[in-house]
Amino acid sequence: MRTMKLFRSIALILCAVLITSFIYQAKGEGDAVAYAMAQNTLECCAAELSACTGYPYYKNENTDRYINYRLIHMDYTLDAVISYVNIGLDRYFYSNPEVIASPGSTDVLVNKYRPLPSSYIPQNLEKISSKYSYGTQKMTHTARRAFEKMCADAKKHGYGILASSSYRSYDKQAEVYASFFTQADPASVAVQELICARPGYSEHQTGLAVDAVRATPSQNNTVYKWLFKNACKYGFIVRYPIGKEGVTGYANEPWHLRYLGVELATAVYNSGLTYDEYYIREIDISDKSGDVPVVGVTAHSQISIDGTSYQLSAVWLSGNTYYKLRDIAVILNNTSKAFDIVWDGEAKRIDMRLGVPYSAALTLSASDTGHAVLASASQSGLQALGCAVDLKAYSIGGATYFKLQDIMNLLGLTAADDGAGNLIIKTVSIAAAPLPDTSVPPG
Ligand SMILES: [Zn+2]
Repeated sequence: MRTMKLFRSIALILCAVLITSFIYQAKGEGDAVAYAMAQNTLECCAAELSACTGYPYYKNENTDRYINYRLIHMDYTLDAVISYVNIGLDRYFYSNPEVIASPGSTDVLVNKYRPLPSSYIPQNLEKISSKYSYGTQKMTHTARRAFEKMCADAKKHGYGILASSSYRSYDKQAEVYASFFTQADPASVAVQELICARPGYSEHQTGLAVDAVRATPSQNNTVYKWLFKNACKYGFIVRYPIGKEGVTGYANEPWHLRYLGVELATAVYNSGLTYDEYYIREIDISDKSGDVPVVGVTAHSQISIDGTSYQLSAVWLSGNTYYKLRDIAVILNNTSKAFDIVWDGEAKRIDMRLGVPYSAALTLSASDTGHAVLASASQSGLQALGCAVDLKAYSIGGATYFKLQDIMNLLGLTAADDGAGNLIIKTVSIAAAPLPDTSVPPG
């Protein structure tokens, strides 16, 4: 009965208490201050990123990469960080290639991370009218018709446009690529990579791309200016715009047009984004209804219980430190605050038995520090001595984490930072220090 009363008062305190954030520094190897600073930066990145986890183009599996990329590009917006990582720009061009599964779709994105299957040949390839092409040029049916219409309209405005290159097979692209790489000098190779796609990585293999050059060189760039503004009305975009080399991996090519259909091409043009960016923000997205996770950072914390030190895996999340309840149970074993936790599968909750030694294997969980992890608000519930306790918890990688301060309150403990990154917990009350002997006057 006394325990019940005690527990109720603890629960009441819990409900009423507005907990001051428990701030202390996790101690890493080497310089504790530098570690704490790095950890704080990580924490800041995680906090920022948490605001974006609901974006349709936020990919949970990329969380670690977002943080790493953010740390080296603090000047980028978060939108840019997420977009660029999704494109793959945090890795070298041509690394981790993901072969396109549906190469025949009009909205297919081909770039230096997304090659077409080498065997892919588009259907419905048709010859472009000789009025608008140099030699024999082919595009898919719809793209070919749109191109001819655009050329005819451009002519009315006095602009002569010709297709100098359109569909190229994988083998043809291999030839073109090889012809560009006649010099072994690495500097010229880097430049050539900016102007010529490797076989499989060229949009020309889709049958949806065309190099639309001015028929009369004396017409200078007014033709390309007209194309830039008007191509979308016919379903084309200028695929490699000026100033976007870092995103597309190609130098500006005002003549390289890509067919997307009028609606999509117009949306891409109006967005001001490259197709690489537009695709990952608007097309390659997932449904994000329901709970969205928040981003935390893994850490290790040194905790001393009645003089014995332990290192526990912890997670920094929204300004608080979260621990696994079972880890706390392990280190409180053999103390007056021992408790056991049992999963009640039927009631789907954790049953906490205060005053009972922890019964499972006495091992502490470990984790790599400084990694971004996703945490979802957990509804697992907690029952202590028959009473439900409403503690905020997060589910991280299959384990439930509770706020350290909540656990301390629940157990009637206090924790203090010793100033060196260690957390000191005492389960036994220290006897009051003896009063100074006042019978002897101070010297
Ligand atoms: Zn081209």
